[in-house]
Amino acid sequence: MRNAASLTPDPEAPWARLRVAALTPFTSLDFPGHLAAIMHLQGCPLACPYCHSPHLQPFGPGALSPRALTGFLASRRGLLDGIVFSGGEPCAQIGLGDALAACRAQGYATALHSAGVYPHALIRLLPLLDWIGLDWKAPLHDTAPATGRVGLGRRFAQAVHAVLSAGIAHEIRTTWHPALLPPSAMLVMAEQLAQMGAGAWVIQPYWRPVFTTYSASPPLGEAVFPRTLLTQIRAILPNTILRP
Ligand code: SF4
Repeated sequence: MRNAASLTPDPEAPWARLRVAALTPFTSLDFPGHLAAIMHLQGCPLACPYCHSPHLQPFGPGALSPRALTGFLASRRGLLDGIVFSGGEPCAQIGLGDALAACRAQGYATALHSAGVYPHALIRLLPLLDWIGLDWKAPLHDTAPATGRVGLGRRFAQAVHAVLSAGIAHEIRTTWHPALLPPSAMLVMAEQLAQMGAGAWVIQPYWRPVFTTYSASPPLGEAVFPRTLLTQIRAILPNTILRP
């Protein structure tokens, strides 16, 4: 017969399968309307040339234990109101659903940053989310230049459809550099988003001249988004925002 102690839920159990590489203890920018912390999850199948976190790409173990994570959440109750799961690619991890549910059980709102590369996992996770920032990486027919991977268009489309159908608060955004997404590609992406029913699009020019995995020569440099292209895009998708 099990005793009372064995029936008490283990607060660390939901975190046992989550590989967390690092924590950002505070952000007011990454989850609109919330004061939040970010959990950076280990592992991503993409190889975006502008990736600022190439150390998060390998599918290795996490650096933070379930005890450390539960302790952090307990210590921030009343100070933060949200937890953001970012990458790597969070949807690659089978433990993410349990972690999202655990956050909500403790009163935290939940947010996800995803590249949409695992749409079926995303569909399962959407009911556990309060907000999602979904990357719109590339035109559906040509994903290689911006992601380092071919043939992802169908997955990206499924992810956008899932987010739009769920009615969840969201942001669809694209990191732009002319070496990866020339004007013709951006116009196709705007058309594709409009056809899927997206109401808005955020374009964020690549701006950090820091370490990159890009192997081409010359490496990516800072780029200014052409105003004429923005006008053309807004003729297709009027609520397109250029993030400074
Ligand atoms: S989706 Fe791209 S930018 Fe984000 S972690 Fe993966 S490789 Fe890096």
